[in-house]
Amino acid sequence: MDTDNNRFKCAESRGLRVRLLSAVLGLGLIGLSLGQTALISAPVPKKVVLMSGKPSHGPMKHEHRAGNLILAQALTAADLNITPIVLPEDGYPEDSSILADADTIVVFSTGHTGHVLNPHLDEFDALMQRGIGVVMIHWATEAEKGKPADKLIEWMGGFCDLNWSVNPHWSAEFKTFPDHPIAHGVEPFVSHDEWYYHMRFVDDLAGVTPILSALPGTETLSRPDGERSGNPDVRRAVANGESQHVAWAYERPDGKGRGFGFTGAHDHVNWQNDNFRKVVLNAILWTAHAAVPSGGVSSATPTDTEIRANLDDKSKRH
Ligand SMILES: [Zn+2]
Repeated sequence: MDTDNNRFKCAESRGLRVRLLSAVLGLGLIGLSLGQTALISAPVPKKVVLMSGKPSHGPMKHEHRAGNLILAQALTAADLNITPIVLPEDGYPEDSSILADADTIVVFSTGHTGHVLNPHLDEFDALMQRGIGVVMIHWATEAEKGKPADKLIEWMGGFCDLNWSVNPHWSAEFKTFPDHPIAHGVEPFVSHDEWYYHMRFVDDLAGVTPILSALPGTETLSRPDGERSGNPDVRRAVANGESQHVAWAYERPDGKGRGFGFTGAHDHVNWQNDNFRKVVLNAILWTAHAAVPSGGVSSATPTDTEIRANLDDKSKRH
């Protein structure tokens, strides 16, 4: 009896163990299944790398790092599955592997002969060939003729060209916007900045969508002709009332990569303009192939304290 009872208990215990094992396995399978579902349904965050050129100009002008930090903080706060990384060093990263898996790269730096990408054109071009996006801000849109200019044309469809483009400080009035994700939620606005204009674009603007365009007055050409101050071509364009594009989107012919050029942001205080900031934030998403919300990327206006945070030590400027 005892033996039978023990056998029964033993059998009962085995049955319990089997049931427990099944339950554990079942839970494991459910867990695995949930894990797989999570893997499938959670989109991989878009990686945005923001590169800040070395300090230049006086305080509150060309604030590369502080500007990039405002953009990065806004992207994080917007909670749009974007991972922004502001490179800790000034200039091109020593370990450039951080760029390899970026979805888009923001470059806010000195331009022309001091352009942060000049010594790295081939390496950066390889990233662009893979379809990584690029956003160039203010002086970073200005390139030397030859290979640097050719590359900027390939990557973002236009650039600031000496003896063709000009760099006056003026109040640009942006009244209308194209039907384009970068213009989502952007309302008409006026912005006083060093808006470079009469940019050199790819032939026939093929692949280019102007995002911010305005009509500069003749007073913007009051200086004599010079590399950045005036030339017969720009004088003719302004006299003819030709709208000037100071921010533009570009879809590269390869169908993979996207670029965006933005000529403002000489004056750091302009990041307090909600529309100004929204255009650049939207452009970062668009060049990263992320969906831009219908109202654009919303972000809190930086306070007067915040706009004066993280400024470069301009005693180290180049
Ligand atoms: Zn400037």
